[in-house]
Amino acid sequence: MKRRQFFQNSALVTSGALVGCATPGIASNAPKTPFAVPATYIPIVGTDEMFPVRRIYCIGRNYAAHAREMGSDPTREPPFFFQKPTDAIQYVPAGTVANHPYPSLTKNYHYEAELVAVLGKGGRNIPVDKALDLVYGYTLGLDMTRRDLQRGMGDQKKPWEIGKSFDQSAPIGAVHKVTQTGHFSKGDIWLKVNGQVKQKADLNQMIWSVAEQINKLSEAFELFPGDIIYAGTPENVGPVVRGDVIEMHIDGLPNLSVKIV
Ligand code: MN
Repeated sequence: MKRRQFFQNSALVTSGALVGCATPGIASNAPKTPFAVPATYIPIVGTDEMFPVRRIYCIGRNYAAHAREMGSDPTREPPFFFQKPTDAIQYVPAGTVANHPYPSLTKNYHYEAELVAVLGKGGRNIPVDKALDLVYGYTLGLDMTRRDLQRGMGDQKKPWEIGKSFDQSAPIGAVHKVTQTGHFSKGDIWLKVNGQVKQKADLNQMIWSVAEQINKLSEAFELFPGDIIYAGTPENVGPVVRGDVIEMHIDGLPNLSVKIV
């Protein structure tokens, strides 16, 4: 939490905005408020700019083997999405191991390694062949999950929210501009716990590509610059406990590491 707060405050100072102003971009006529509510930013590699996070969309069951391990049939299921609140972001600088707090209420806390696409443009009903034009850059992130609560709510046909959308449930690396990295349609994605490989797949095994995800999302929601999309996790999700160190990798991006505390 401290890291995020520090980060947000320093971001507000460097961007010239006043602490307490609302969303960047509409700060010039920001209303007077009785207290400050921080906005969420992620550094953009190679620039002095910060990426302002508007919404966090996550796609569910986007690798066939993971869909099967979660008990569904990947061949018949259209993509589905959920959201995390923007303040779930825990920015993890490359080359560091951030302390990540084991959350409350769970006894089965899971990692999910994911590619993250971040949008610099928006729109509705974006065709697949235009969808990648919306992408500003990419990073990698963990969709941390209180699996017991997610499953428990699912069993009761209630929303997953408490299993997915909690404080600091979205560790994430810095944004890399697509002009420097290109798009990520293939390449290794892996996750290790304490040096042991737990998840390993290729991005080309995603059921719905990033372009298709944007296309489908934009039919349900108007997309805007600042929206980010967690693109789903491969199979072999699993639990961590306090003291474990998670390291994740996507070819072409620096690794992301957290220690569960
Ligand atoms: Mn996920």
